[in-house]
Amino acid sequence: MAAANSPVVLVTGGSRGIGRGIAQHLARRDARVALHYANNSAAAHETLASLAGDGHALFAADVADPAACEKLIADVLAHFGRLDVLINNAGVYEDDAIKAASYADWQRVWRRTLDTNLVGPANLTYLAVQHMRARRSGRIVNITSRAAFRGELTAQSYAASKAGLNILGQSLAQALAPDNIHVFTIAPGWIDTDMATASLTGPNAAQVLAQHPLGRVGTADELGATAAWLALEAPANLTGCIIDANGASYLRT
Ligand code: NAP
Repeated sequence: MAAANSPVVLVTGGSRGIGRGIAQHLARRDARVALHYANNSAAAHETLASLAGDGHALFAADVADPAACEKLIADVLAHFGRLDVLINNAGVYEDDAIKAASYADWQRVWRRTLDTNLVGPANLTYLAVQHMRARRSGRIVNITSRAAFRGELTAQSYAASKAGLNILGQSLAQALAPDNIHVFTIAPGWIDTDMATASLTGPNAAQVLAQHPLGRVGTADELGATAAWLALEAPANLTGCIIDANGASYLRT
C-alpha cells in the first residue's frame, strides 16, 4: 500500500503503450501515479485498474495546449499536494515525407508534432519545476527516440521533435542541478505498442525486425523498468544522460 508520503509521479500518456508500462513499474515500487491521458478514457481506466497498490489518480489533458498543461499540473498538485517526478512520455508519430506531403499537410503535421512532442513537455517541465524548485527536489524523465540520432526518412518532424527534447533535457540538467532537480532521457528504438503497429506488421516488418540482434523489438515493460528506475533510484550523477533503449539496433558513438 502506498504511504501518504510516497513519491508522486506524473506519467503523461499513461493510458497505453510505454506509459502504461512505466505506470505499472512505478506502482510496484510504491509510488503514487498521476496517470495522464488525452482522450482514451477506457484505456486509461484499464491501466489504472492494473496498477498495484493504491493512491493513484487519473487526469486528462491535451499536452499540445499550454492552458491544458497549466490545468494538469494545478490539478495534480491540488490532488496530491506534491509532485516528485514528471515523466514526459506522451507523444505522436505522423508521416510527413517531404516528397509526398502537400504543403498544407506539412504545416499541419509539423505543428501537431512539435506542439505535442516538444513544446508540451517544455511547458509541463516549466510548470513542474516551479513547484520542484520551491521544494529543492525533483526529477524529470523524458522519452525521446532513436530517431533523434538516426533521422526518420518519412517523419522528419518526429525526428526533429525528439532531437529537440534531447537537448532540452540536457540543457535543463545543467540549469537545474544546483536546485537538486535532475533530468534524464531515454531514447527508445522500436517498442511493441499501438504507435509501432503499422511498422511492425506492415510490408517492411521483416526489414524492421532484421535491425534487431535480439531477434525482437523492445517492450513497454522493459521501458517501464528503465523509466521507473530513473524516476526513483538512479544516482544524481546520471543527470543529463540519454539512455539508448534500442536493443543495439542503432549504435551511436
Ligand atoms: P502510443 O501507444 O501511441 O500511446 C501514446 C500515448 O500518448 C497515449 O497515452 C495517448 O493518450 C498519449 N497522447 C497522444 N497525444 C497526446 C496529446 N496531444 N496530449 C496528451 N496525451 C497524448 O505510443 P507509445 O509507443 O507508447 O509512445 C510513448 C512515447 O515513446 C512517445 O513519446 C513516443 O514518441 C516514444 N517512442 C515510441 C517508440 C515505439 O516504437 N513505440 C519508439 C521510440 C519512442 P490517449 O490514449 O488518450 O490517446
